[in-house]
Amino acid sequence: MAHSMTCFSKRFLWSAVYPEPRRAALLLLFFFLSLPAGAQTTAAKPSKSEGKPKLVVLLVVDQMRADYVDKFLFQWTGGLKRLVEEGAWFRDAAYPYAATETCVGHSTISTGAFPPTHGMVANAWWDRKEQKMVTCTSDLDPNVKNIGYAGATPGGADTAWRMTVPSFAEELKFQTGGVTRIVTFSLKARASLTMAGHKADAATWFEGGNWVTSSPYGVQPFIEEQAKAHPPKADFGKTWALSLPEKSYWYSEKALGAVPPDGWDLTFPHPLRGKTGTGEPDPAFYSQWATSPYADTALTELAEKAVDALHLGNGSGTDFLAVGYSTVDYVGHAFGPRSREIQDILIRLDKDLADLFAHLDKNVGRGNYVVALSADHGVVPVPEDMQTTGADAGVLHLPELQERIEKALEPFNFPKPAIARITGSDIYFAQGVYEKMQHDHAAMLAVIDASLAQPGVAAVYRADELMNRPATQSPTLRAFALSYFPGRSGDLFIVPKPYWLMDSTPAGKSRSYGTGHGTPYNYDQHVPVLFMGYGIQPGEYFQSITPADIAPTLAALCGITLAPRDGHVLAEALKKRMSGATTEKAALGRSTSQ
Ligand SMILES: [Zn+2]
Repeated sequence: MAHSMTCFSKRFLWSAVYPEPRRAALLLLFFFLSLPAGAQTTAAKPSKSEGKPKLVVLLVVDQMRADYVDKFLFQWTGGLKRLVEEGAWFRDAAYPYAATETCVGHSTISTGAFPPTHGMVANAWWDRKEQKMVTCTSDLDPNVKNIGYAGATPGGADTAWRMTVPSFAEELKFQTGGVTRIVTFSLKARASLTMAGHKADAATWFEGGNWVTSSPYGVQPFIEEQAKAHPPKADFGKTWALSLPEKSYWYSEKALGAVPPDGWDLTFPHPLRGKTGTGEPDPAFYSQWATSPYADTALTELAEKAVDALHLGNGSGTDFLAVGYSTVDYVGHAFGPRSREIQDILIRLDKDLADLFAHLDKNVGRGNYVVALSADHGVVPVPEDMQTTGADAGVLHLPELQERIEKALEPFNFPKPAIARITGSDIYFAQGVYEKMQHDHAAMLAVIDASLAQPGVAAVYRADELMNRPATQSPTLRAFALSYFPGRSGDLFIVPKPYWLMDSTPAGKSRSYGTGHGTPYNYDQHVPVLFMGYGIQPGEYFQSITPADIAPTLAALCGITLAPRDGHVLAEALKKRMSGATTEKAALGRSTSQ
Protein backbone atom coordinates (compact mmCIF):
# COMPACT_ATOMS: atom_id res chain seq x y z
CA MET A 1 0.00 0.00 0.00
CA ALA A 2 2.72 2.38 0.99
CA HIS A 3 4.49 1.41 -2.20
CA SER A 4 1.61 2.39 -4.46
CA MET A 5 1.20 5.68 -2.59
CA THR A 6 4.77 6.53 -3.50
CA CYS A 7 3.92 5.46 -6.97
CA PHE A 8 1.00 7.84 -7.18
CA SER A 9 2.90 10.84 -5.84
CA LYS A 10 5.70 10.31 -8.34
CA ARG A 11 3.26 10.06 -11.22
CA PHE A 12 1.57 13.21 -10.07
CA LEU A 13 4.83 15.09 -10.02
CA TRP A 14 5.83 13.78 -13.42
CA SER A 15 2.58 14.84 -15.04
CA ALA A 16 3.44 18.40 -14.13
CA VAL A 17 6.93 18.12 -15.57
CA TYR A 18 6.71 15.97 -18.66
CA PRO A 19 4.52 16.25 -21.79
CA GLU A 20 2.26 13.35 -22.75
CA PRO A 21 4.53 11.10 -24.89
CA ARG A 22 7.44 11.43 -22.49
CA ARG A 23 5.08 10.71 -19.59
CA ALA A 24 3.90 7.51 -21.25
CA ALA A 25 7.50 6.44 -21.58
CA LEU A 26 8.20 7.23 -17.98
CA LEU A 27 5.13 5.33 -16.81
CA LEU A 28 6.32 2.35 -18.76
CA LEU A 29 9.71 2.82 -17.18
CA PHE A 30 8.01 2.90 -13.82
CA PHE A 31 6.40 -0.42 -14.59
CA PHE A 32 9.87 -1.85 -15.02
CA LEU A 33 11.06 -0.27 -11.82
CA SER A 34 8.10 -1.83 -9.98
CA LEU A 35 9.22 -5.31 -10.95
CA PRO A 36 10.94 -7.43 -8.28
CA ALA A 37 14.48 -6.28 -7.61
CA GLY A 38 16.08 -9.02 -9.70
CA ALA A 39 14.15 -8.00 -12.80
CA GLN A 40 15.20 -4.36 -12.66
CA THR A 41 18.00 -3.17 -14.86
CA THR A 42 18.86 0.01 -12.93
CA ALA A 43 17.55 1.49 -9.73
CA ALA A 44 16.98 5.09 -10.79
CA LYS A 45 15.28 7.89 -8.97
CA PRO A 46 13.69 10.44 -11.25
CA SER A 47 15.61 13.67 -11.45
CA LYS A 48 16.15 16.46 -13.91
CA SER A 49 19.49 14.95 -14.87
CA GLU A 50 17.96 11.62 -15.89
CA GLY A 51 19.56 10.70 -19.20
CA LYS A 52 21.91 13.65 -18.84
CA PRO A 53 25.32 14.24 -17.27
CA LYS A 54 25.26 14.83 -13.52
CA LEU A 55 27.99 17.41 -13.82
CA VAL A 56 29.50 19.48 -16.63
CA VAL A 57 33.17 20.32 -16.06
CA LEU A 58 34.62 23.07 -18.22
CA LEU A 59 38.39 23.51 -18.16
CA VAL A 60 40.01 26.40 -20.00
CA VAL A 61 43.79 26.44 -20.05
CA ASP A 62 44.77 30.04 -20.73
CA GLN A 63 47.11 30.35 -23.76
CA MET A 64 47.39 26.59 -24.35
CA ARG A 65 48.39 26.12 -27.99
CA ALA A 66 46.84 23.10 -29.73
CA ASP A 67 50.26 21.80 -30.72
CA TYR A 68 51.33 21.46 -27.07
CA VAL A 69 49.16 18.32 -27.08
CA ASP A 70 50.84 17.00 -30.24
CA LYS A 71 54.31 17.81 -28.94
CA PHE A 72 54.17 16.74 -25.30
CA LEU A 73 51.49 14.06 -25.07
CA PHE A 74 54.26 11.42 -25.09
CA GLN A 75 55.51 12.53 -21.68
CA TRP A 76 52.16 13.05 -19.96
CA THR A 77 50.80 10.36 -17.65
CA GLY A 78 47.85 12.07 -15.95
CA GLY A 79 44.70 14.01 -16.76
CA LEU A 80 45.77 15.55 -20.08
CA LYS A 81 46.75 12.11 -21.34
CA ARG A 82 43.46 10.67 -20.10
CA LEU A 83 41.50 13.34 -21.98
CA VAL A 84 43.23 12.34 -25.22
CA GLU A 85 43.02 8.59 -24.66
CA GLU A 86 39.52 8.31 -23.23
CA GLY A 87 38.01 11.35 -24.89
CA ALA A 88 37.21 13.00 -28.17
CA TRP A 89 40.19 15.00 -29.43
CA PHE A 90 39.47 17.72 -31.99
CA ARG A 91 42.83 18.42 -33.60
CA ASP A 92 41.83 21.25 -35.92
CA ALA A 93 39.98 23.66 -33.64
CA ALA A 94 40.62 27.37 -34.10
CA TYR A 95 39.03 30.70 -33.35
CA PRO A 96 37.96 32.27 -36.63
CA TYR A 97 38.32 35.82 -35.28
CA ALA A 98 41.23 38.22 -34.79
CA ALA A 99 40.68 39.25 -31.15
CA THR A 100 42.46 36.23 -29.66
CA GLU A 101 42.45 37.48 -26.07
CA THR A 102 41.42 36.01 -22.72
CA CYS A 103 38.05 37.68 -22.15
CA VAL A 104 37.02 37.06 -25.75
CA GLY A 105 38.00 33.38 -25.77
CA HIS A 106 36.40 32.52 -22.44
CA SER A 107 33.19 34.31 -23.51
CA THR A 108 33.17 32.43 -26.82
CA ILE A 109 33.59 29.07 -25.09
CA SER A 110 31.04 29.98 -22.44
CA THR A 111 28.29 31.28 -24.74
CA GLY A 112 28.87 29.41 -28.00
CA ALA A 113 29.00 32.76 -29.77
CA PHE A 114 31.54 35.03 -31.45
CA PRO A 115 32.30 38.64 -30.40
CA PRO A 116 29.71 40.25 -32.74
CA THR A 117 27.13 38.29 -30.72
CA HIS A 118 28.54 38.19 -27.16
CA GLY A 119 30.07 41.66 -27.23
CA MET A 120 33.30 40.85 -25.37
CA VAL A 121 35.69 42.27 -27.97
CA ALA A 122 38.88 42.46 -25.88
CA ASN A 123 40.20 42.25 -22.32
CA ALA A 124 39.78 46.02 -22.21
CA TRP A 125 38.60 48.64 -24.68
CA TRP A 126 38.20 52.40 -25.03
CA ASP A 127 34.77 53.38 -23.76
CA ARG A 128 33.68 56.27 -25.98
CA LYS A 129 31.00 57.41 -23.53
CA GLU A 130 33.18 57.23 -20.42
CA GLN A 131 36.22 58.49 -22.37
CA LYS A 132 38.45 55.96 -20.66
CA MET A 133 39.67 52.37 -20.90
CA VAL A 134 37.29 49.86 -19.34
CA THR A 135 37.98 46.20 -18.65
CA CYS A 136 35.50 43.64 -19.97
CA THR A 137 34.32 42.88 -16.42
CA SER A 138 34.31 46.35 -14.82
CA ASP A 139 30.79 47.08 -13.59
CA LEU A 140 29.59 50.68 -13.30
CA ASP A 141 26.61 49.83 -11.08
CA PRO A 142 27.26 51.54 -7.71
CA ASN A 143 25.49 48.68 -5.94
CA VAL A 144 28.02 46.12 -7.17
CA LYS A 145 31.13 45.58 -5.05
CA ASN A 146 33.96 43.07 -5.08
CA ILE A 147 34.15 40.93 -1.96
CA GLY A 148 37.28 39.30 -0.52
CA TYR A 149 37.63 35.99 1.27
CA ALA A 150 39.65 35.57 4.47
CA GLY A 151 39.37 39.22 5.42
CA ALA A 152 40.60 40.67 2.12
CA THR A 153 39.17 44.04 1.08
CA PRO A 154 39.45 44.27 -2.71
CA GLY A 155 38.46 47.41 -4.57
CA GLY A 156 36.49 47.58 -7.77
CA ALA A 157 33.39 45.90 -9.05
CA ASP A 158 33.50 43.09 -11.60
CA THR A 159 30.71 41.12 -13.24
CA ALA A 160 29.85 39.65 -16.63
CA TRP A 161 27.28 42.41 -17.32
CA ARG A 162 28.97 43.47 -20.56
CA MET A 163 28.45 39.94 -21.97
CA THR A 164 25.33 40.42 -24.10
CA VAL A 165 24.13 36.80 -24.08
CA PRO A 166 23.80 34.28 -21.23
CA SER A 167 26.48 31.69 -20.59
CA PHE A 168 25.78 28.00 -21.18
CA ALA A 169 25.82 27.57 -17.39
CA GLU A 170 23.19 30.18 -16.67
CA GLU A 171 20.98 28.88 -19.51
CA LEU A 172 21.31 25.39 -17.99
CA LYS A 173 20.23 26.70 -14.60
CA PHE A 174 17.42 28.82 -16.04
CA GLN A 175 15.99 26.16 -18.32
CA THR A 176 16.04 23.37 -15.72
CA GLY A 177 14.24 25.30 -13.01
CA GLY A 178 17.22 26.54 -11.02
CA VAL A 179 18.50 23.18 -9.80
CA THR A 180 21.94 23.63 -11.41
CA ARG A 181 24.74 24.84 -9.17
CA ILE A 182 27.26 27.06 -10.99
CA VAL A 183 30.77 27.27 -9.56
CA THR A 184 33.81 28.74 -11.33
CA PHE A 185 37.43 29.45 -10.39
CA SER A 186 40.31 31.15 -12.12
CA LEU A 187 43.17 33.47 -11.30
CA LYS A 188 41.46 36.00 -13.61
CA ALA A 189 38.11 37.73 -13.14
CA ARG A 190 37.58 37.82 -16.91
CA ALA A 191 37.84 34.02 -17.01
CA SER A 192 35.89 33.14 -13.88
CA LEU A 193 33.04 35.59 -14.52
CA THR A 194 32.54 34.94 -18.23
CA MET A 195 32.45 31.16 -17.68
CA ALA A 196 29.90 31.61 -14.88
CA GLY A 197 27.67 34.24 -16.44
CA HIS A 198 25.70 37.12 -14.97
CA LYS A 199 25.00 35.34 -11.65
CA ALA A 200 26.31 32.15 -10.07
CA ASP A 201 26.57 30.19 -6.84
CA ALA A 202 30.26 31.08 -6.80
CA ALA A 203 32.62 32.80 -9.26
CA THR A 204 36.02 33.28 -7.68
CA TRP A 205 39.29 34.79 -8.85
CA PHE A 206 42.67 35.85 -7.49
CA GLU A 207 43.59 39.46 -6.77
CA GLY A 208 46.34 40.98 -4.67
CA GLY A 209 47.17 37.68 -2.98
CA ASN A 210 43.56 36.84 -2.12
CA TRP A 211 40.52 34.99 -3.42
CA VAL A 212 37.83 37.41 -4.49
CA THR A 213 34.26 37.47 -5.82
CA SER A 214 31.63 40.18 -6.28
CA SER A 215 28.19 40.92 -4.90
CA PRO A 216 25.92 39.35 -7.59
CA TYR A 217 27.69 36.02 -7.01
CA GLY A 218 27.43 33.69 -4.03
CA VAL A 219 29.92 33.73 -1.16
CA GLN A 220 30.66 30.14 -0.12
CA PRO A 221 31.83 29.04 3.34
CA PHE A 222 34.03 26.30 1.83
CA ILE A 223 36.01 28.92 -0.11
CA GLU A 224 36.43 30.99 3.05
CA GLU A 225 37.68 27.86 4.81
CA GLN A 226 40.15 27.03 2.03
CA ALA A 227 41.30 30.67 1.79
CA LYS A 228 42.20 30.51 5.47
CA ALA A 229 43.55 26.94 5.56
CA HIS A 230 45.74 27.20 2.46
CA PRO A 231 46.15 30.81 1.32
CA PRO A 232 48.51 31.47 -1.64
CA LYS A 233 51.01 33.05 0.76
CA ALA A 234 51.47 29.61 2.39
CA ASP A 235 53.45 28.68 -0.75
CA PHE A 236 56.05 31.35 0.05
CA GLY A 237 59.50 29.75 0.07
CA LYS A 238 58.56 26.85 -2.22
CA THR A 239 60.53 26.28 -5.43
CA TRP A 240 59.47 25.39 -8.95
CA ALA A 241 62.03 22.83 -10.12
CA LEU A 242 62.04 20.70 -13.29
CA SER A 243 59.85 17.61 -12.91
CA LEU A 244 61.86 15.37 -15.24
CA PRO A 245 65.57 14.85 -15.94
CA GLU A 246 67.07 17.72 -17.98
CA LYS A 247 67.41 15.60 -21.11
CA SER A 248 63.60 15.30 -21.29
CA TYR A 249 63.29 18.96 -22.26
CA TRP A 250 63.26 20.14 -25.86
CA TYR A 251 64.52 23.69 -25.59
CA SER A 252 67.61 25.49 -24.31
CA GLU A 253 68.17 26.21 -20.67
CA LYS A 254 67.45 29.92 -21.17
CA ALA A 255 64.53 30.86 -23.44
CA LEU A 256 65.71 33.48 -25.96
CA GLY A 257 64.09 36.89 -25.47
CA ALA A 258 62.26 35.78 -22.33
CA VAL A 259 61.38 38.29 -19.58
CA PRO A 260 60.84 36.36 -16.33
CA PRO A 261 58.86 37.74 -13.36
CA ASP A 262 60.74 39.97 -10.90
CA GLY A 263 63.08 37.98 -8.68
CA TRP A 264 63.52 35.11 -11.17
CA ASP A 265 66.27 34.55 -13.69
CA LEU A 266 66.11 32.56 -16.92
CA THR A 267 67.13 29.20 -15.49
CA PHE A 268 65.47 26.57 -13.30
CA PRO A 269 64.87 26.26 -10.40
CA HIS A 270 62.54 29.23 -9.84
CA PRO A 271 62.19 30.09 -6.13
CA LEU A 272 58.94 31.65 -4.82
CA ARG A 273 60.61 34.18 -2.54
CA GLY A 274 59.52 37.56 -3.88
CA LYS A 275 61.68 40.31 -5.28
CA THR A 276 64.54 40.17 -2.82
CA GLY A 277 64.40 36.51 -1.84
CA THR A 278 63.80 37.15 1.83
CA GLY A 279 61.10 38.21 4.19
CA GLU A 280 57.38 38.47 3.59
CA PRO A 281 55.20 37.79 0.52
CA ASP A 282 55.35 40.89 -1.71
CA PRO A 283 53.68 41.65 -5.07
CA ALA A 284 56.63 39.97 -6.84
CA PHE A 285 55.97 36.79 -4.85
CA TYR A 286 52.33 36.77 -5.97
CA SER A 287 53.28 37.12 -9.62
CA GLN A 288 55.87 34.33 -9.18
CA TRP A 289 53.15 32.23 -7.55
CA ALA A 290 50.71 32.91 -10.39
CA THR A 291 53.47 31.90 -12.84
CA SER A 292 54.18 28.64 -10.96
CA PRO A 293 52.52 25.20 -10.77
CA TYR A 294 51.36 26.02 -7.23
CA ALA A 295 48.65 28.31 -8.61
CA ASP A 296 47.22 25.54 -10.81
CA THR A 297 47.24 23.23 -7.81
CA ALA A 298 45.43 25.83 -5.69
CA LEU A 299 42.67 26.09 -8.32
CA THR A 300 42.43 22.29 -8.50
CA GLU A 301 42.08 22.10 -4.72
CA LEU A 302 39.32 24.72 -4.76
CA ALA A 303 37.47 22.77 -7.47
CA GLU A 304 37.72 19.57 -5.43
CA LYS A 305 36.49 21.36 -2.29
CA ALA A 306 33.52 22.65 -4.30
CA VAL A 307 32.62 19.09 -5.30
CA ASP A 308 32.85 18.00 -1.64
CA ALA A 309 31.08 20.94 -0.01
CA LEU A 310 28.22 21.38 -2.47
CA HIS A 311 28.01 17.72 -3.54
CA LEU A 312 28.30 18.82 -7.14
CA GLY A 313 27.12 16.06 -9.43
CA ASN A 314 24.90 14.63 -6.72
CA GLY A 315 22.05 17.12 -6.84
CA SER A 316 18.70 16.88 -8.58
CA GLY A 317 19.95 18.42 -11.83
CA THR A 318 23.09 18.87 -13.87
CA ASP A 319 25.70 20.95 -12.02
CA PHE A 320 28.38 23.10 -13.60
CA LEU A 321 31.99 23.45 -12.49
CA ALA A 322 34.55 25.47 -14.45
CA VAL A 323 38.22 26.11 -13.85
CA GLY A 324 40.20 28.68 -15.80
CA TYR A 325 43.81 27.60 -15.41
CA SER A 326 45.66 30.90 -15.91
CA THR A 327 49.25 29.89 -15.24
CA VAL A 328 50.16 28.60 -18.70
CA ASP A 329 49.38 32.15 -19.90
CA TYR A 330 51.68 33.83 -17.40
CA VAL A 331 54.43 31.32 -18.14
CA GLY A 332 53.95 31.74 -21.90
CA HIS A 333 54.02 35.55 -21.76
CA ALA A 334 57.23 35.46 -19.74
CA PHE A 335 59.15 32.58 -21.34
CA GLY A 336 57.43 31.98 -24.70
CA PRO A 337 56.11 28.75 -26.21
CA ARG A 338 59.63 27.36 -26.86
CA SER A 339 60.72 27.11 -23.25
CA ARG A 340 61.40 24.47 -20.64
CA GLU A 341 58.98 26.38 -18.46
CA ILE A 342 56.05 25.75 -20.82
CA GLN A 343 56.96 22.09 -21.18
CA ASP A 344 57.23 21.67 -17.41
CA ILE A 345 54.10 23.62 -16.45
CA LEU A 346 52.09 21.27 -18.69
CA ILE A 347 53.62 18.22 -16.97
CA ARG A 348 52.45 19.70 -13.68
CA LEU A 349 48.99 20.57 -15.00
CA ASP A 350 48.68 17.00 -16.31
CA LYS A 351 49.19 15.79 -12.72
CA ASP A 352 46.67 18.27 -11.30
CA LEU A 353 44.06 17.16 -13.81
CA ALA A 354 44.73 13.51 -12.90
CA ASP A 355 43.90 14.44 -9.29
CA LEU A 356 40.79 16.35 -10.30
CA PHE A 357 39.45 13.51 -12.46
CA ALA A 358 40.19 10.93 -9.74
CA HIS A 359 38.24 13.11 -7.31
CA LEU A 360 35.32 13.34 -9.73
CA ASP A 361 35.42 9.56 -10.40
CA LYS A 362 35.14 8.97 -6.68
CA ASN A 363 32.49 11.55 -5.85
CA VAL A 364 30.40 11.85 -9.00
CA GLY A 365 31.18 8.53 -10.67
CA ARG A 366 33.23 7.78 -13.76
CA GLY A 367 30.96 8.27 -16.75
CA ASN A 368 28.46 10.44 -14.88
CA TYR A 369 30.20 13.70 -15.69
CA VAL A 370 31.38 15.25 -18.92
CA VAL A 371 34.57 17.29 -19.26
CA ALA A 372 35.36 19.84 -21.97
CA LEU A 373 38.88 21.27 -22.16
CA SER A 374 40.01 24.08 -24.41
CA ALA A 375 42.03 27.30 -24.44
CA ASP A 376 41.09 30.94 -24.92
CA HIS A 377 43.89 31.60 -27.45
CA GLY A 378 47.42 30.52 -28.32
CA VAL A 379 50.63 32.55 -28.45
CA VAL A 380 53.28 33.73 -30.92
CA PRO A 381 56.95 32.77 -30.45
CA VAL A 382 59.13 35.41 -28.80
CA PRO A 383 60.09 37.67 -31.76
CA GLU A 384 63.83 37.55 -31.00
CA ASP A 385 63.61 33.74 -30.93
CA MET A 386 61.67 33.58 -34.21
CA GLN A 387 64.23 35.87 -35.87
CA THR A 388 66.90 33.19 -35.38
CA THR A 389 65.12 31.16 -38.11
CA GLY A 390 65.81 33.94 -40.59
CA ALA A 391 62.08 34.48 -41.13
CA ASP A 392 60.47 37.92 -40.99
CA ALA A 393 59.56 38.56 -37.33
CA GLY A 394 59.67 41.57 -35.07
CA VAL A 395 57.96 44.00 -32.75
CA LEU A 396 55.25 46.36 -33.99
CA HIS A 397 55.68 49.41 -31.77
CA LEU A 398 52.22 50.89 -31.26
CA PRO A 399 53.36 54.20 -29.67
CA GLU A 400 55.51 54.80 -32.77
CA LEU A 401 52.51 54.03 -34.98
CA GLN A 402 50.45 56.53 -33.00
CA GLU A 403 53.06 59.25 -33.59
CA ARG A 404 53.07 58.55 -37.33
CA ILE A 405 49.29 58.87 -37.54
CA GLU A 406 49.23 62.13 -35.55
CA LYS A 407 51.91 63.51 -37.85
CA ALA A 408 50.05 62.41 -40.99
CA LEU A 409 46.95 64.29 -39.86
CA GLU A 410 48.81 67.56 -39.14
CA PRO A 411 48.20 69.11 -42.60
CA PHE A 412 44.43 68.51 -42.29
CA ASN A 413 43.77 70.74 -39.27
CA PHE A 414 42.18 68.03 -37.13
CA PRO A 415 41.91 68.47 -33.33
CA LYS A 416 45.06 67.35 -31.51
CA PRO A 417 45.63 64.71 -30.36
CA ALA A 418 43.54 62.99 -33.02
CA ILE A 419 43.87 59.56 -31.43
CA ALA A 420 42.14 58.75 -28.13
CA ARG A 421 43.78 55.33 -27.75
CA ILE A 422 45.48 52.50 -29.57
CA THR A 423 44.91 49.20 -27.82
CA GLY A 424 45.99 46.01 -29.58
CA SER A 425 44.78 46.21 -33.18
CA ASP A 426 42.11 48.81 -32.42
CA ILE A 427 42.67 52.51 -33.09
CA TYR A 428 40.13 54.80 -31.42
CA PHE A 429 40.07 58.39 -32.64
CA ALA A 430 39.08 61.36 -30.49
CA GLN A 431 35.40 62.29 -30.62
CA GLY A 432 34.30 63.37 -34.09
CA VAL A 433 37.68 62.72 -35.75
CA TYR A 434 36.86 59.44 -37.48
CA GLU A 435 33.51 60.80 -38.73
CA LYS A 436 35.39 63.75 -40.21
CA MET A 437 37.98 61.43 -41.79
CA GLN A 438 35.21 59.43 -43.45
CA HIS A 439 34.30 62.58 -45.40
CA ASP A 440 37.90 63.59 -46.05
CA HIS A 441 39.34 61.06 -48.46
CA ALA A 442 42.83 62.61 -48.43
CA ALA A 443 43.03 62.53 -44.62
CA MET A 444 41.88 58.89 -44.48
CA LEU A 445 44.43 57.95 -47.13
CA ALA A 446 47.20 59.80 -45.29
CA VAL A 447 46.42 57.89 -42.07
CA ILE A 448 46.31 54.53 -43.83
CA ASP A 449 49.55 55.23 -45.72
CA ALA A 450 51.28 56.32 -42.51
CA SER A 451 50.11 53.13 -40.78
CA LEU A 452 51.30 50.91 -43.63
CA ALA A 453 54.73 52.55 -43.38
CA GLN A 454 55.13 51.30 -39.80
CA PRO A 455 57.35 48.16 -39.68
CA GLY A 456 55.22 45.07 -39.05
CA VAL A 457 51.92 46.40 -40.40
CA ALA A 458 50.37 44.15 -43.07
CA ALA A 459 47.06 45.95 -43.64
CA VAL A 460 44.62 48.46 -42.20
CA TYR A 461 40.87 47.93 -42.08
CA ARG A 462 38.14 50.52 -41.52
CA ALA A 463 35.22 49.85 -39.16
CA ASP A 464 32.73 50.28 -41.99
CA GLU A 465 34.38 47.35 -43.84
CA LEU A 466 33.73 45.04 -40.90
CA MET A 467 30.10 45.63 -40.03
CA ASN A 468 27.48 42.87 -40.44
CA ARG A 469 30.01 40.11 -41.18
CA PRO A 470 30.55 40.79 -44.90
CA ALA A 471 31.02 37.86 -47.27
CA THR A 472 34.72 37.76 -48.16
CA GLN A 473 37.41 35.43 -49.47
CA SER A 474 39.98 36.99 -47.14
CA PRO A 475 40.47 35.02 -43.92
CA THR A 476 42.00 38.11 -42.31
CA LEU A 477 39.15 40.48 -43.19
CA ARG A 478 36.72 37.80 -42.07
CA ALA A 479 38.64 37.41 -38.79
CA PHE A 480 38.36 41.14 -38.08
CA ALA A 481 34.68 41.18 -39.06
CA LEU A 482 34.10 38.31 -36.62
CA SER A 483 35.74 40.40 -33.87
CA TYR A 484 33.70 43.52 -34.53
CA PHE A 485 31.03 44.84 -32.17
CA PRO A 486 29.72 48.35 -33.01
CA GLY A 487 30.37 50.93 -30.32
CA ARG A 488 33.00 48.84 -28.53
CA SER A 489 35.49 48.06 -31.29
CA GLY A 490 37.89 50.63 -32.73
CA ASP A 491 37.58 52.90 -35.79
CA LEU A 492 40.59 51.53 -37.66
CA PHE A 493 42.24 48.13 -37.27
CA ILE A 494 45.90 47.30 -37.65
CA VAL A 495 46.64 43.88 -39.11
CA PRO A 496 50.16 42.88 -38.08
CA LYS A 497 52.36 40.74 -40.30
CA PRO A 498 52.73 37.11 -39.19
CA TYR A 499 55.22 36.71 -36.31
CA TRP A 500 55.11 40.42 -35.49
CA LEU A 501 54.23 41.18 -31.88
CA MET A 502 52.06 44.24 -31.25
CA ASP A 503 53.60 46.05 -28.29
CA SER A 504 52.46 49.12 -26.33
CA THR A 505 55.71 49.67 -24.44
CA PRO A 506 56.71 53.36 -24.73
CA ALA A 507 59.76 54.08 -26.90
CA GLY A 508 63.05 53.70 -25.05
CA LYS A 509 61.66 51.28 -22.46
CA SER A 510 62.21 47.53 -22.61
CA ARG A 511 59.26 45.13 -22.81
CA SER A 512 58.02 43.79 -19.49
CA TYR A 513 57.06 40.46 -21.08
CA GLY A 514 58.49 38.03 -23.64
CA THR A 515 55.64 37.54 -26.06
CA GLY A 516 51.87 37.77 -26.59
CA HIS A 517 48.81 37.02 -28.69
CA GLY A 518 45.80 38.78 -30.18
CA THR A 519 46.19 38.33 -33.94
CA PRO A 520 44.30 36.43 -36.68
CA TYR A 521 47.12 33.92 -37.20
CA ASN A 522 46.93 30.22 -36.48
CA TYR A 523 49.47 30.31 -33.64
CA ASP A 524 46.99 32.53 -31.75
CA GLN A 525 43.80 30.87 -33.03
CA HIS A 526 44.57 27.13 -32.98
CA VAL A 527 43.66 25.62 -29.59
CA PRO A 528 42.88 22.16 -28.22
CA VAL A 529 39.28 21.01 -27.90
CA LEU A 530 38.81 17.80 -25.93
CA PHE A 531 35.71 16.15 -24.47
CA MET A 532 35.58 13.18 -22.14
CA GLY A 533 32.97 11.27 -20.20
CA TYR A 534 29.20 11.19 -20.28
CA GLY A 535 27.79 10.86 -23.79
CA ILE A 536 31.14 11.34 -25.54
CA GLN A 537 32.28 9.11 -28.40
CA PRO A 538 36.06 8.80 -27.97
CA GLY A 539 38.35 9.27 -30.93
CA GLU A 540 40.43 11.69 -32.97
CA TYR A 541 38.53 14.18 -35.06
CA PHE A 542 40.15 16.19 -37.82
CA GLN A 543 37.36 18.37 -39.14
CA SER A 544 37.73 22.12 -38.68
CA ILE A 545 35.75 23.32 -35.73
CA THR A 546 35.77 26.38 -33.43
CA PRO A 547 35.64 26.65 -29.64
CA ALA A 548 32.18 28.20 -30.09
CA ASP A 549 31.07 24.60 -30.76
CA ILE A 550 31.74 23.58 -27.15
CA ALA A 551 28.68 25.22 -25.56
CA PRO A 552 26.15 23.95 -28.15
CA THR A 553 27.60 20.44 -27.77
CA LEU A 554 27.23 20.58 -23.98
CA ALA A 555 23.73 22.04 -24.48
CA ALA A 556 22.82 19.07 -26.67
CA LEU A 557 24.03 16.67 -23.96
CA CYS A 558 21.97 18.53 -21.35
CA GLY A 559 18.88 18.97 -23.49
CA ILE A 560 18.78 22.76 -23.47
CA THR A 561 18.73 25.42 -26.18
CA LEU A 562 21.14 28.30 -26.58
CA ALA A 563 20.23 31.43 -28.53
CA PRO A 564 23.37 32.04 -30.63
CA ARG A 565 23.80 30.28 -33.98
CA ASP A 566 27.57 30.87 -34.25
CA GLY A 567 28.60 27.47 -32.88
CA HIS A 568 27.40 24.01 -33.88
CA VAL A 569 26.80 20.71 -32.11
CA LEU A 570 29.80 18.40 -32.58
CA ALA A 571 27.45 15.53 -33.37
CA GLU A 572 30.15 13.10 -34.49
CA ALA A 573 31.65 13.10 -30.99
CA LEU A 574 28.35 12.38 -29.25
CA LYS A 575 27.19 8.86 -28.57
CA LYS A 576 23.81 8.21 -30.06
CA ARG A 577 21.24 6.93 -27.60
CA MET A 578 20.73 3.58 -29.36
CA SER A 579 24.46 2.92 -29.58
CA GLY A 580 24.71 1.88 -25.97
CA ALA A 581 25.64 5.22 -24.54
CA THR A 582 22.69 5.27 -22.23
CA THR A 583 20.82 2.75 -20.18
CA GLU A 584 18.00 0.56 -21.39
CA LYS A 585 15.41 2.84 -19.89
CA ALA A 586 16.49 5.76 -22.03
CA ALA A 587 16.25 3.57 -25.09
CA LEU A 588 12.84 2.51 -23.93
CA GLY A 589 11.78 6.12 -23.54
CA ARG A 590 12.89 6.80 -27.07
CA SER A 591 11.12 3.88 -28.73
CA THR A 592 7.80 4.48 -27.02
CA SER A 593 7.72 8.18 -27.69
CA GLN A 594 8.23 7.84 -31.45
ZN1 LIG B 1 44.26 34.29 -22.07
